[in-house]
This record gives sequence, structure tokens and C-alpha cells, in this order.
Amino acid sequence: MTMDFTDRVTRVEPSATLAISALATELEAEGADVVDLSVGEPDFPTPENVVQAGKDAMDAGHTGYTTSAGILELREAIAEKLAADGLEHSTDEIIVTPGAKQALYEVIHALVDDGDEVVLLDPAWVSYEAMVKMAGGYLTRVDLSPYDFQLEPALSDLEKVVSAETELLIVNSPSNPTGAVYSDAALEGVRDLAVEHDVTVISDEIYKEITYGVSPTSLGTLEGMADRTVTVNGFSKAYSMTGWRLGYFAGPEELVSQAGKLHSHSVSSAVNFVQHAGIEALENTDDAVSEMVEAFEGRRDLVVDLLAEHDVDVAVPDGAFYMMLPTGENDQEWCEGALEDAHVATVPGSAFGTPGYARISYAASEERLREGIDRLAAEGYL
Ligand code: PMP
Ligand code: GLU
Repeated sequence: MTMDFTDRVTRVEPSATLAISALATELEAEGADVVDLSVGEPDFPTPENVVQAGKDAMDAGHTGYTTSAGILELREAIAEKLAADGLEHSTDEIIVTPGAKQALYEVIHALVDDGDEVVLLDPAWVSYEAMVKMAGGYLTRVDLSPYDFQLEPALSDLEKVVSAETELLIVNSPSNPTGAVYSDAALEGVRDLAVEHDVTVISDEIYKEITYGVSPTSLGTLEGMADRTVTVNGFSKAYSMTGWRLGYFAGPEELVSQAGKLHSHSVSSAVNFVQHAGIEALENTDDAVSEMVEAFEGRRDLVVDLLAEHDVDVAVPDGAFYMMLPTGENDQEWCEGALEDAHVATVPGSAFGTPGYARISYAASEERLREGIDRLAAEGYL
């Protein structure tokens, strides 16, 4: 039988980040020692008290469905966290999702219709493009690579593309894949354009807790942005909880109620006991988060120094745990070669809309990072 697949799914590719990581795992299963700098996943265990809270919740019988938007105590804790960042949201304006990815999926599908324009700042995380295409929208992309991945110098380029036609703009600071943290002036520039052209903005703040000496502003706190910003966040990165699948979005009540329909008809709710663990993550992990961030900062410095020893200059990131390594024109070939010859897994910049680079995730031990860079150098990739 020949199945007739929808345009919606056939027009997108599988997630490149997850695909490369799967390839690395396959090579490892064949006996290769792969330095996996591909997938963006903290290499620390989930903080013990969070694991314990999850177990306790299971023992206490929190194993049934929850209210679709998520348990009230967690939404209260999220509202408090958002308020500390200057974002005022009632619990009715928050939906808890199985991962930030699902939050983005729901918001994008609630806002983007066939033929709608969505503006991305490139390089942009792989799944934005796929989600927009699945929703039927089309992408207009602004390239930040000529500006060391900073947004402020690219504002005039952004100004040329944002118009009354634009439905949605997606901003991700700190950025995956560049680690760039956008300045307040850059965000104010985004605000001015969003207000002028009446554009909704998604602010994906999943790396907000992971910064080095800078403190990113939440876009929704800027004057004029409260009623047009959807703030997305999750637990995967800050609390090293990738496999727990927990995230959320907060925005104007109307958006939350529209996207909430998609939520209730698809996932019903996030996992009950995971939500309980999420409360502990928000309330009692300051020390654990600081320790992880400190470790990431040390690794960032190490990678920048090691690359400099090989005369490779990179834009030094202020946040997240990624950086972009210049590869020359054919980044796909570079990444495939680096995996085959050096057994070092990275993700090609073209997967993020920006050829000529490979993304390195430095969420790996210093020893593995040294090993990876030594191998890339030995095989002629640096
Ligand atoms: N946004 C960005 C920018 C990401 O890098 C990721 C990948 N982890 C997500 C959202 C989704 O994260 P999760 O679904 O694990 O919460
Ligand atoms: N966001 C992480 C990454 O970019 C995890 C994989 C994914 O969901 O894309 O590597």
C-alpha cells in the first residue's frame, strides 16, 4: 500500500541536532570512541533534591492526569519566577508543557496560518523553521553572522524585512546555536519594530539562567511588549532535566486559551510527578545551577583558548553552551568528515540557516573537550 503523506510533514526534515547525535550514538555502538559535541544537553545529573521530589510525588500518588494547563502550585511557582524577571503573568496566562519544544509548537500553531510570514534571526535553532513550515508559514531570515552573531548591528537589516505582513518574530537570547546574548539596545530595536508593525514576538528564554557575567533582559518587560510577547522557557537546560520533558509558555490570556486547545487535544498535560519535581527545581536549586553555570563558563574559556592555540578565532559567547566554529564554505562536508575521520560530532551551521560554521556544544567534560579539539587539529579540521 502507498500511504499519502501530508505536505505538512513531507516539507520538513528530521531535527538535525537529534539526527547527528543519533549518528554519534550509532558509531559508538559500533565501537568508535566519539566525542559528542553535537546535541545541546547538559552533562550533569539532575540535582538530587529534584529527583527526590519526583520520586516523592510518585510515592504520594501524583500519577494521574493533571489539569491541562498544569498543576496550580507549579504555575504559581512559574509566575513567581517570571515576576522576579519583571514579567507579570497570572496563573491563567501560563501553560505547562512536556518540554519547551511543545510550548513552541503550540504557540506557533496557534499564531501561524498558511502563508503567514515569520521572521527568524539566523543562525536560529533548527526546530523553529520546521515548526513554522508545518504550520504553513514561510520564513524571512536575517543573517547575524556578519556581526559576530550580535543583533544590535543587524537592526537595520531587520528593519528592512519586518512589515505589516509579518505575523511573528522569534527571538532566542541567549541564542542556540551562537551563545550570543542580545543587548538591551538590540531588544529595544526589536520592540520598536514589533510595536510599529503590530507583530507578535516569541521570546525563547530557555538559556536565560546560563550566562557569563551578563544578565539578559526579558523582551516582554519592555514597554509596549507585554501584550505582544509570548515567553517560552523550560527546565531542560538550567536544571539539567532534558529527559523529564518539562517547559512552559506565558503570554496574553487570549493566546493561552487558543493554544491551550491544541495542548489539551494533543498532550493533555505535562506528566504529573514531573510537574511536582519542577516546583523543587524552581525553588531550591540556586546552588546547583550556579555550579553548573560556573563549570560551563570554565569550559567556554577552555575551548576558546584551545582554538586560539590553533589560530581559530570564534565569537566568544556570553551564554548557553554553544559556539560557532568557522568551517569554510562546505560546513556539511566538514561536519561529516570531522565525525568520520576524527570521531568528533558537531552540527553544521546550515542546519541553523547559516552555512560556513559548525556548532560546538561544550556541555562536555574538559577532558573530552581537549580530546575533541586535539583530534580535530590532528585530522586537519582546524
Ligand atoms: N528552545 C531552544 C533554543 C532549544 O535549544 C531547545 C532544545 N533543547 C528547546 C527550545 C527545547 O527544549 P526542551 O524541549 O528540551 O525544553
Ligand atoms: N535543543 C538542543 C540542541 O539544539 C537539543 C536537541 C533539540 O531538541 O534540537 O541540540
